[in-house]
Amino acid sequence: MPVDAIFQCHKCGQCCEGRGGIIVSPADLERLASHLSMSVEKVKAQYCELCGGKIQIRCGDDGFCIFFHKTKGCGVHERKPAVCQAWPFFRGNLEDPSSLSMAKDFCPGINPDVTHENFASFGREYLREHNLVSHDASREANALIVE
Ligand code: SF4
Ligand code: SF4
Repeated sequence: MPVDAIFQCHKCGQCCEGRGGIIVSPADLERLASHLSMSVEKVKAQYCELCGGKIQIRCGDDGFCIFFHKTKGCGVHERKPAVCQAWPFFRGNLEDPSSLSMAKDFCPGINPDVTHENFASFGREYLREHNLVSHDASREANALIVE
């Protein structure tokens, strides 16, 4: 089943609004630093904040992710954090049909007709294929720790 049959981003930007959730792993930080031609320390100081012991991308004054631009979208699209690459295939949505149902209401990119069974089996495969599964609960996003 092609990914487009399950999810196709409409670039509405809703998932880039709101504080929290964009946890960045050490690998994400290295990738962002290379993309922005900065040191990891500078990326952390300029674009990140600590939340519950983990590092996350911070928001701008407009309430959107600091990398989000109203007309251009994600300013680090090619190198965006794993959680942004993985959405909507987060653990909650893979494990819980009601969570997927809420995600469908929130994100217009998820095919409203896809069954939870198809979504979950495709999503697990997608995360593995794209090397997006996390293994370190102390430094990586819980949403990407899947079986
Ligand atoms: S909410 Fe869904 S459709 Fe909108 S930008 Fe995010 S992933 Fe794309
Ligand atoms: S890094 Fe990009 S895709 Fe992720 S929340 Fe920020 S603007 Fe959105």
